[in-house]
Amino acid sequence: MNANSLLVRAMTRDGSVRIVCADTTAIVQKAHQIHKTSKTMTAALGRCLTVTSLMGSLLKDATDSLSLQIRGDGPAGTILCVSDYKGNVRGYAQDASVELPPNSVGKLDVGGAVGGGSLCIVRDFGTGEPYVGISPLVSGEIAEDISQYYVTSEQTPTVCALGVRADLDNSCKAAGGFLLQLLPGADESLIPTIEKNVTSLGSVSKLIEVGHTPADIVGMVFEGIEFDFFDEIDIAYVCNCERDRYKRALISMSDADIAEITEGGAPVETECRFCKTKYTFTAEEILTARKRAKG
Ligand SMILES: [Zn+2]
Repeated sequence: MNANSLLVRAMTRDGSVRIVCADTTAIVQKAHQIHKTSKTMTAALGRCLTVTSLMGSLLKDATDSLSLQIRGDGPAGTILCVSDYKGNVRGYAQDASVELPPNSVGKLDVGGAVGGGSLCIVRDFGTGEPYVGISPLVSGEIAEDISQYYVTSEQTPTVCALGVRADLDNSCKAAGGFLLQLLPGADESLIPTIEKNVTSLGSVSKLIEVGHTPADIVGMVFEGIEFDFFDEIDIAYVCNCERDRYKRALISMSDADIAEITEGGAPVETECRFCKTKYTFTAEEILTARKRAKG
């Protein structure tokens, strides 16, 4: 397995269709190690992390970020993933230990773990109002839900393919996916070729498992069509949490809440939901910082 995850971006030479494709095996494996995901949740969280990275890589500015929130009524609960503009991601599921029997076609039952509900995409541009789009979940299998989101919420015809292979020990054997989009004014005569290519690809995670790179997969999707690669970038599971941010949150709590959590002078422990890093604060440190903040 590669130490890094890799993302490539390409476009047909006539500017009709763009694609972003990634091998996210290392990212999904890191998520498995942090969250101790079950097999089904390695797949569910893995697909969400993969598509969040792909969508994040389409942002323009260094201060932009994108979050994907899956608000399902299934046993996994809410799944939240966040990407920066380069496709570096982090994420968590409310219950990462959910395990279900395989679905009717013998696959990991991601749809069953997620359930019905909605999908919410927030693009935060650093300043001003974030852009928020919401659409209902179609199957909870994530890729279909994302394609539907693009059609209903952003009027962009999109093909989304996502795949995660989990090993017997629940770790990630292979993960990846792509987002392919028709751009405004696209030459529609390319569509049948692309449809045929995508259909004959089979599973993306299988291709990655047998050693194909994201660039290979783009070549297969665009077979018979002239295209150019833009770039190839390393992506990773990255959390940007800081001790100071937790401290500020503690400082801004109400006196009653602070009195309760520091009762008896016990230290306060906080934990980052994305990377499980624990930050411990002594009661004295919090009370001193509060006094100082109040002047
Ligand atoms: Zn963190």
